Amino acid sequence: MNINNLPDNPYLLLTPGPLSTSKTVKATMLQDWCTWDDDYKNLVEEVRSRLIRLATQRPEQYTTVLMQGSGTFSVEAMIGTAVPRNGKLLVLTNGAYGNRIIQIARYYKIDTVALDSGELDPPDLEKLEKTLAGDPEITHVAVVHCETTTGMLNPIEAVGRTVKKFGKTYLVDTMSSFGGVPMDVADLEIDFCVSSANKCIQGVPGFCFVIAKRAELLKCEGNARSLSLDLFDQWKAMEVDKGKWRYTSPTHVVRAFYQAMQELEEEGGISKRHARYIENHRILVDGMRALGFKTLLPDAYQSPIITSFYSPEGKKYDFRSFYNRLKQKGFVIYPGKVSKMSAFRIGNIGHVFPDDMRRLIEAVEKSMFWND
Ligand SMILES: *Cc1c(COP(=O)(O)O)cnc(C)c1O
Repeated sequence: MNINNLPDNPYLLLTPGPLSTSKTVKATMLQDWCTWDDDYKNLVEEVRSRLIRLATQRPEQYTTVLMQGSGTFSVEAMIGTAVPRNGKLLVLTNGAYGNRIIQIARYYKIDTVALDSGELDPPDLEKLEKTLAGDPEITHVAVVHCETTTGMLNPIEAVGRTVKKFGKTYLVDTMSSFGGVPMDVADLEIDFCVSSANKCIQGVPGFCFVIAKRAELLKCEGNARSLSLDLFDQWKAMEVDKGKWRYTSPTHVVRAFYQAMQELEEEGGISKRHARYIENHRILVDGMRALGFKTLLPDAYQSPIITSFYSPEGKKYDFRSFYNRLKQKGFVIYPGKVSKMSAFRIGNIGHVFPDDMRRLIEAVEKSMFWND
């Protein structure tokens, strides 16, 4: 098909998912698929094996489970399947997504310890060490990699070293970083991590996935307290029936994701994509600072995924008007999510390039109505 006939999107999504996708990714969704036919199952198996190869150089130690739903479904499936009824979970949190893990654990009545370092600070590694040393009942530790609330990149390597020193199971929400930030889950000693179709792989929303250390997942049979979110059962069905999902799968979304993985490879893999995101981010932050905006986080903590900026001080400023002006100029940004400060966020992942970020800075300059 001729993708040039597809309409252009009226605006770029500068948000952490759903994000802007290529026309070629969108175009793949024009075919219908049969979920138990080999054509589709082979596609699923190819997606699964490619995901593991993106996750690690030691693919034989890991496996993957695809799960229907938005990213949170995989976080819930991971917590509710990996942590047994008599387990105890320690959660390091510094934002809404860390807090969501705690919320999930509460629904599951999991005995949980929260170490909250506040939205502007990274996890306290000394406190982690002390807590693990003082509470041998803790079995699992969970942390968010890129805390999308602020854009902070948490030190999952250092956290993992401490977690493994005490022999605990390590769970990481790599939702907004997987595929966009180089990492090897085996080197990081991650037992389970999650992401979704509509983040750095640049697919459309509709499913999520868990990368699991095979030996750890095999211990989880019978743990789940939810049928549809039983990660072990979902995995077993996919393994036994080679690419078959337990319940109706988002076929079009999976096909689009396969194309998105192809395009990631054509771009040069995760390291090249990471380099583009870093370049996008540099142009964004340099440009915004030149216009007088201040970033919420110091550069040392900042991810190349999404950036929080303090709201400008002009008395006439309001986010809605700023948002609408930028939208008219072709860019959709994100409201702030930190609880104490007024801020907004701009993402730079997705089918978005350095020239788009330069055009964005021009659009921001023309939208600063509060200075008029
Ligand atoms: C996007 C995201 C999620 C999942 O959010 P959904 O709205 O359920 O897709 C979870 N954790 C982080 C860090 C995220 O960025």
